[in-house]
Amino acid sequence: MGPRTVRVKDVPDPKILNGRDAIVRITSTAICGSDLHLYGHYVPGLKVGDILGHEFMGEVVETGPEVSNLAVGDRVVVPFPIACGACNACKRELYSLCENSNTTAPRAEKLWGHSPAGIFGYSHLLGGYAGGQAEYVRVPFADVGPLKIEDDSLTDEQVLFLSDVLPTGYMGAELCDIRPGDVVAVWGAGTVGQFAALSARLLGAERVVVIDRVARRLEMAREHAGAETLDYEQTDVLAELKDMTGGRGPDACIDAVGLEAHHPAAPLHAYDKAKQFARLETERSHALREAIMSCRNGGTVSIIGVYGGFADKFPIGSVMNRSLTIRTGQCHVHRYMRPLLERITKREIDPTFVITHHLSLDEAPNGYDTFKHDKDECVKVVLHP
Ligand SMILES: [Zn+2]
Ligand SMILES: [Zn+2]
Repeated sequence: MGPRTVRVKDVPDPKILNGRDAIVRITSTAICGSDLHLYGHYVPGLKVGDILGHEFMGEVVETGPEVSNLAVGDRVVVPFPIACGACNACKRELYSLCENSNTTAPRAEKLWGHSPAGIFGYSHLLGGYAGGQAEYVRVPFADVGPLKIEDDSLTDEQVLFLSDVLPTGYMGAELCDIRPGDVVAVWGAGTVGQFAALSARLLGAERVVVIDRVARRLEMAREHAGAETLDYEQTDVLAELKDMTGGRGPDACIDAVGLEAHHPAAPLHAYDKAKQFARLETERSHALREAIMSCRNGGTVSIIGVYGGFADKFPIGSVMNRSLTIRTGQCHVHRYMRPLLERITKREIDPTFVITHHLSLDEAPNGYDTFKHDKDECVKVVLHP
């Protein structure tokens, strides 16, 4: 619906449109931080009546004639980018850049020069696909994306986040090329930040520092990722990170915040917010600026928080003069689902710790409101249709 209006409505059930489609009955779906960017209309191209949701799993109820790897009754997790598996990008395992899945590519090309892949429930910039915060969803290229969960002892909650936030956090850490002894700093202790911090530890970081302002989230990062934490409202983050690293700065900095960052100094936050409102910039990129300024000379800045358009006051001088490497991207989820499922099966990762709210699908509007306004110490909402 319009900005900040999410409603639950009866709509016609989706149908098979192409031979490679499958229809999935949703058993669990989550609200993502990036859904809030849509909710607040920071990402363009949403229309009234669009069905949101790109983090979902469920049971296959119908398959097209060309889907031979799935059968009715299979339990699957579906990756958020839609990918054909055969184009130049897919062959390079850059699934979020699939050249065949964005049916509204010209709109994306106008904004970004080229189009990335289509994404479930993510506006008419990225294909206008109906999302999975619903009872049923049509999954295109179902012979490529969905991951079958064979182990019935795994709960939905244990595997649902393979659809986005776990692989996204993991990729954010992987982009840092972590070496033994490295210090990695993570901006944002939402689910992606939590999983980025956890993954940085799994990939060998000696110390992980997580930056946020919400006490419960920081506590979560300490408890589950063994992170040290900084509350940016209480401390000068740049100075503190220098202190913690002998003056050098973290070897890698991960931006898991994206375009709706808050700034502890009210005037700067207001500056970004005003420019964003007037569409003079589309991003409030304070976290990214701070990640760049904080990173050690020659270090890596990994951007996995979502950005939509153009940022103001981007410190390119700091990037260039200090030989920083910037790596980024929407997650190529397909690449990570199997190895991460293996880690979950071996109990090396238990992603369920981020879930703070279980709601029915009918309660989705309440879920958006709670998540948006950090009510009830909300970190992650899972909806059960
Ligand atoms: Zn998401
Ligand atoms: Zn492709």
